[in-house]
Amino acid sequence: MPASIRGEVHDLLAVAVTRRNATLLDCPSCGSSHVAQVLGDNGGISYVCTACGHSWS
Ligand SMILES: [Zn+2]
Repeated sequence: MPASIRGEVHDLLAVAVTRRNATLLDCPSCGSSHVAQVLGDNGGISYVCTACGHSWS
């Protein structure tokens, strides 16, 4: 594998790690990071995955 391509792969991995740390939350059902924070009925915080619709708190 040419060194230039290895460099590109490394950059992509660095971006993925940075993005993962920024979101902090992943859907426990599908693993998506498209998670919305919503207020629950009792005033608590719940989370809803906008990718698969799974909700949890
Ligand atoms: Zn999900």
